[in-house]
Amino acid sequence: MADTILVVNAGSSSIKFCVYHIGATSDLSLTLKGQVSGVGTRPSLRASDAGGRPLVDETFSATEIPDVAVAMGRVGAWLREHLAGEVPVAIGHRVAHGGPTYRAPVSVDNDTLAALERLVPLAPMHQPYNLRPIRTIQERFPSTVQVACFDTGFHQGHPDVADRFAIPETLYQEGVRRYGFHGLSYEYIARALPRVAPEIAQGSVVVAHLGSGASMCAIKGGRSMDSTMAFTGLDGLPMGTRCGQIDPGVLLYLVSEKGYGAKELERFLYHETGLHGLSGISNDVRDLLASDDQRARLALDYFVYRVERELGALAAAMQGLDGVVLTAGISENSPEMRARICRGAAWLGLKLDEAANRAGGPRISTRDSKVSAWVIPTDEERMIAEHTLKVWREQ
Ligand code: AMP
Repeated sequence: MADTILVVNAGSSSIKFCVYHIGATSDLSLTLKGQVSGVGTRPSLRASDAGGRPLVDETFSATEIPDVAVAMGRVGAWLREHLAGEVPVAIGHRVAHGGPTYRAPVSVDNDTLAALERLVPLAPMHQPYNLRPIRTIQERFPSTVQVACFDTGFHQGHPDVADRFAIPETLYQEGVRRYGFHGLSYEYIARALPRVAPEIAQGSVVVAHLGSGASMCAIKGGRSMDSTMAFTGLDGLPMGTRCGQIDPGVLLYLVSEKGYGAKELERFLYHETGLHGLSGISNDVRDLLASDDQRARLALDYFVYRVERELGALAAAMQGLDGVVLTAGISENSPEMRARICRGAAWLGLKLDEAANRAGGPRISTRDSKVSAWVIPTDEERMIAEHTLKVWREQ
């Protein structure tokens, strides 16, 4: 029986999972991928093999799968049945925040789990849900190797100025730093560049991870130099339900003039702002593109405007720009959004190839474009599988 790695990427209402076979030369081949979505509302379990052929498509009532822990149990039961008892040698998890201590993927024991649970306030939309399946599996299968892979990891080693806020040193030492997120996605892209876009792989590249969460990262010579997210996943670009960069004075105003407490501020910043808050219509770019309401147009205009501003800022952070890479849901699926972003970067010497953009790339700039532009689908799960294999081998 082949050795396998199971990858789990758990969110507030979904669990994505993948199984990889470990080959003779430690190469990893995807054997199946699936997800439980709509946890607590309209749960469904879907999975397909590596060729995209469906393996399961079941729906459940909200009471059957009320939370992520139960969803994880359901995934485990289906995997055991489908894989006929084949047990993964290790399970890799996406974990949003590693704080100042966890700089690289780590095998999780009770102490690690407790330390990661203390970081929940720094990533309330992700960390508790990322950790829940780890806890569930640890309780049921304590000898299973579980590896936490951090979204903050790839950004470790930022130049000091990019790691700081202008606040007293004691707070920095306590861990109040500009960590940056979406690191597994950026690391995957950095690794893919030599193969997909060799001419910029060693140069200065801005990668825009534009999905329901959105951030941008300056990568020079394959290493993260700076990113738009910071201490939490709130900074930088506007997102589905997060406003991104905001004058902290607005928060003081909400506290002093509107009586907001910590929980209300958290709800406001994580759930009530961004594309959803600005448009009053939807957090989904598809809905906004399809709408002729001028609030939808404003929300998209704002999103593109902020991407352009950050592109300029990150190019300045690297003192130059050779290429732009667009990745994640919005970038990978919307030629219109890609075109808008690239057209707005014409001043940097980026010339969009309209036909290549409509065809989906990977290169979407013209041959004579001074700064090239690319669409590269991200694959955070593969990155997690690779890290998990390495940690398991080194145990
Ligand atoms: P992700 O978080 O990377 O899975 O991206 C999810 C987001 O991608 C959704 O919230 C949508 O806003 C966006 N998206 C997905 N498909 C499309 C599309 N065809 N056009 C525009 N946006 C899309």
